[in-house]
Amino acid sequence: METQHSGLEPGLYIVAGPIGNLGDLTPRAAEILRRADVIAVEDTRVSARLLRHAGSDRPMIPYHDHSAEGVRARLVERMASESVALLSDAGTPLISDPGYKLVRDARAAGRRITTLPGPSAAIAALTLSGLPTDRFLFMGFLPAKAKARADALAEVAALRATLIFYESGPRLSDSLGAMAEGLGDRDAAVSREISKAFEETATGTLTQLSARYADAPPRGEIVVIVGPPGEAPPASAEDADAALLEAMARLPVSRAAGEVAKKLGLDRRALYARAMELKG
Ligand code: SAM
Repeated sequence: METQHSGLEPGLYIVAGPIGNLGDLTPRAAEILRRADVIAVEDTRVSARLLRHAGSDRPMIPYHDHSAEGVRARLVERMASESVALLSDAGTPLISDPGYKLVRDARAAGRRITTLPGPSAAIAALTLSGLPTDRFLFMGFLPAKAKARADALAEVAALRATLIFYESGPRLSDSLGAMAEGLGDRDAAVSREISKAFEETATGTLTQLSARYADAPPRGEIVVIVGPPGEAPPASAEDADAALLEAMARLPVSRAAGEVAKKLGLDRRALYARAMELKG
């Protein structure tokens, strides 16, 4: 069937918008917003501003993943013959925003799906943090209740990865304190108002940052980046001796040295020599 408005191919267009600075809307994203048959948005008032900026007069439909099933089913149906754009209030749709179920169902129905990549606060903050970027985990918003928050932190405490959290000003100091407790007092960065007039990034340990914001909850939108756990301190000579003696009570010297080397991450030959000394 012919498309109704735009000449765009029918299907779903996932459109990343700015995270504060309208200048970050890509020309390609603006073009899709001007040409799509319909635009699924979180909040029509918020998106109206971006559409004006993009010069778009296309109709909007409110969409959330928790919208009634019928809303999603109708959008997926329309994608068979029309171009449907998906836009969030800020940044990349689906990232702590609606869209996952729409994409899932569009895929299941065999619709054409394309994405217009652009800003996301998570990646923007990661690049500002000065913390390792080779392995990272996006945690979204932590639960508000203390027990659920502690459980969520405990689940990832052992991971050797930088962690990315979305946060709000009033909760910030409290959350940083809970992170210090649950993850250890790691290096961290707090970025707020990225790409806006009052953009700011503060770095320090979680405890230092928690104290900094305790009496002055910051305004605006916030991302917290937490570095990976530090290396465990090397085992002391006393630890090594105790482990060797324990292992030698069960095993021949060379196997005891091998076992302790593996367990404590120490050199097997040096441990063997030390075991012979201890034995002597
Ligand atoms: N989809 C968005 C994205 O791609 O970043 C995120 C949407 S989520 C509902 C909103 C949260 O993202 C805010 O509470 C804040 O944690 C973070 N955020 C959005 N814009 C930001 C900005 N300009 N500076 C810092 N954090 C921002």
